[in-house]
Amino acid sequence: MSDLISKDQQHVWHPFTQHHTAGDPLAIVKAEGVYLFDENGRSYIDANASWWVNTHGHGHPHIAKALSEQFQTIDHIVFAGATHPKAVELAERICGHLPNHFQKVFFSDNGSTAVEIALKMAIQYWHNKGEHKQRFLAMHGSYHGDTFGAMSVGQRGYFNAPFEPLFFDTDYLDFPNGSNEIVILERAERLLSSGNFAGLIVEPLVQGAAGMRMYSTEFLDQLTTIAQKYDVLVIFDEVMTGFGKTGKLFSMDHCQNKPDFVALSKGLTAGVMALGLTVTSDKIYEAFLGEETTKALLHGHSFTANPLACAVACANLDLFEREETWHNIDAMVKWNEAFAEELEQFDFVTNIRQQGTILAFEIQESGEASYFSDLKTRAYEFFLKQGVLLRPLGNVIFVNPPFCITEEEYGKVKKAVLEFLRTV
Ligand SMILES: *Cc1c(COP(=O)(O)O)cnc(C)c1O
Repeated sequence: MSDLISKDQQHVWHPFTQHHTAGDPLAIVKAEGVYLFDENGRSYIDANASWWVNTHGHGHPHIAKALSEQFQTIDHIVFAGATHPKAVELAERICGHLPNHFQKVFFSDNGSTAVEIALKMAIQYWHNKGEHKQRFLAMHGSYHGDTFGAMSVGQRGYFNAPFEPLFFDTDYLDFPNGSNEIVILERAERLLSSGNFAGLIVEPLVQGAAGMRMYSTEFLDQLTTIAQKYDVLVIFDEVMTGFGKTGKLFSMDHCQNKPDFVALSKGLTAGVMALGLTVTSDKIYEAFLGEETTKALLHGHSFTANPLACAVACANLDLFEREETWHNIDAMVKWNEAFAEELEQFDFVTNIRQQGTILAFEIQESGEASYFSDLKTRAYEFFLKQGVLLRPLGNVIFVNPPFCITEEEYGKVKKAVLEFLRTV
């Protein structure tokens, strides 16, 4: 065991990890482009984009320049009662990329806080208007983060069982699977017409952590139409789907109906800095104005609008504003389509699905399929041996590499997956 790994085991507690049974972590000592390098000089294609965050590859020179220049200008300052150019630039540019009613940006540090703040804004919006509306409608299988509010509207189950008695009540809609949609929409209408609901929260079009489950734009548009009909605030959690993943900049760009709030993080800073944004309208913002301090959103974080993170997010937008990035994204969408066709040859491969740059499928197993399934470990280790870092979710294998991946590198990922399938 290397020195790095033994010291890691002495002092580090990793996320989502049962340390009693987990193998040694990968000791990554360098990251460049789509590649990660371990202590022994082996390289791996970062085929899940470092937990879905990396958009343009590691160590991108444009991002590096922005980060270094910002450090020499302002590293960090208080954001209550003060402001700085990169926060203002980012807020203005993000609003420019969203539908017109998005005019106000609240900064935090990650996806969970971006969601938590949207929930708090929705509850306090009604509170400030003197209306008692505190319930949320969410969807089964959703993941919105690991803070208490975000867990309260996410899928209940073994991931958060110890805390469940402390969650607030949420109503859940079944996941739309093509045949149950009318029933779901009828139930949504019955619930939302009650007048008790502050908001509806969804991962638009793709549920990430549930295993890249996808549903139709038509369904989402119908659901949000019902919410809007009964004045229920709509929150799109685009923490995963934002920044090119679905083939457009945001998932909502596929939809007719737009939400009242959007939560952004993950791809926001090109996968380089911790930053979250909750973006909403002047209508929501204005409900927090008044003579009384208690009408304000009394929420904040020490690192709110960290200038380094804001500068990197602006540089990330520069790259998304380059045509070349969209050529790469469009090419990836096509490679995924071709890959999806090749997957048809395996009769145990089911539910092949694609939304833009995300391709996912399931391996039908005998017995219980679960997050802890053994297949996941076997696949993960097989891919590593092929020089590809790809973490399956249970029996779901999905690829979502950084958008700078070349056709040849993509081919290597595809080859590793096809070779694994031949061993199943
Ligand atoms: C990852 C994720 C979150 C949580 O973001 P963190 O930065 O990990 O706190 C919330 N919602 C969705 C859809 C996510 O994929």
